[in-house]
Amino acid sequence: MEHNEKNCLVCQSDENQAPLIEISYQGNKYYICPQHMPILIHNPDKLAGMLPGAENMEAG
Ligand SMILES: [Zn+2]
Repeated sequence: MEHNEKNCLVCQSDENQAPLIEISYQGNKYYICPQHMPILIHNPDKLAGMLPGAENMEAG
């Protein structure tokens, strides 16, 4: 089986389980599912530890 590194940052769902939104950040690509997209928008500090520097992001 082909290795697939596309997983939601939060719940680790892969693209077979949920449509994943690609995020480019600091030269890296990350993926997040629609269910957790609001966390990125409203509570990016909750992604601290998952997304480097997320604790310094300002909520939208
Ligand atoms: Zn998710």
